[in-house]
Amino acid sequence: MKKAMSPTRYDVPPELEGQVAITTLDKIYNWGRRSSVWPLMFGLACCAIEMICTAASRFDFSRFGMEVMRPSPRQADLLLVSGTVTKKMIPQIVRLYNQMPEPKYVVAMGACASGGGPFKEGYNVVSGVDNYIPVDVYIPGCPPTPQALLHGLITLQRLIDTQSLKRARWYSKDQTDMIPVPILGPDVIDPRDIPAIKEYTQRKLAEQEAAASLPLDETVKVE
Ligand code: SF4
Repeated sequence: MKKAMSPTRYDVPPELEGQVAITTLDKIYNWGRRSSVWPLMFGLACCAIEMICTAASRFDFSRFGMEVMRPSPRQADLLLVSGTVTKKMIPQIVRLYNQMPEPKYVVAMGACASGGGPFKEGYNVVSGVDNYIPVDVYIPGCPPTPQALLHGLITLQRLIDTQSLKRARWYSKDQTDMIPVPILGPDVIDPRDIPAIKEYTQRKLAEQEAAASLPLDETVKVE
């Protein structure tokens, strides 16, 4: 019996079935990228131990083409943020992110990287790396198990599958903006917040000056 042809525009003649496959450029391109994601080799805290464990023989993320951890951001396309992000470290993390070429992805591994975790609101801790750089996949847990990390990496592969060459931001004519590196002083300052900080400071100074210029009988009387 004659096999029914599939209802696509590019039907393969029956005599070529099994020898010819028709697919899209997007699918080939994404298949190559999803199967060779190279993470940047760095870790921040206890979550990094789980990441190392996931790379080792029992879980072995080389099965996903991810075993080539690169010590240089110039050669990596995945920033795997594994651990507590401190105010001291965030300038370095943003600088590394800026140095990675497009297309690049960020995975926030664990409660600390995703939102501060047990140290949220701590004097030295950033409440989530996504306050500074865009995150593609969040992995919950403290720490996430190697299985959870693998699930996060598979989720990233699914995200890559959905991207299209036509709409990819790294091929657009507009240049991708670099993220301003945070400034570490007594506290960490995001340069993007400087206009808002200036405006707040000027408003407060104006309020203080207005209060100081009021006649004494209009100021609050202390009984
Ligand atoms: S999420 Fe938990 S295990 Fe991971 S770095 Fe934070 S405290 Fe450590």
